[in-house]
Amino acid sequence: MYKCLNCGKEVRLELKTAKKIICPYCGYRIIRKDRPKVVKKVLSD
Ligand SMILES: [Zn+2]
Repeated sequence: MYKCLNCGKEVRLELKTAKKIICPYCGYRIIRKDRPKVVKKVLSD
């Protein structure tokens, strides 16, 4: 999940539209990764 730095809304970015990173709500172009509060899941296979 990503967050728009302008309006702060959560923005879903799909790989298909990765080239066009823009906030669908306000049109802002700077989207930041929203860090999950959950501790990183460690892959231990
Ligand atoms: Zn926005």
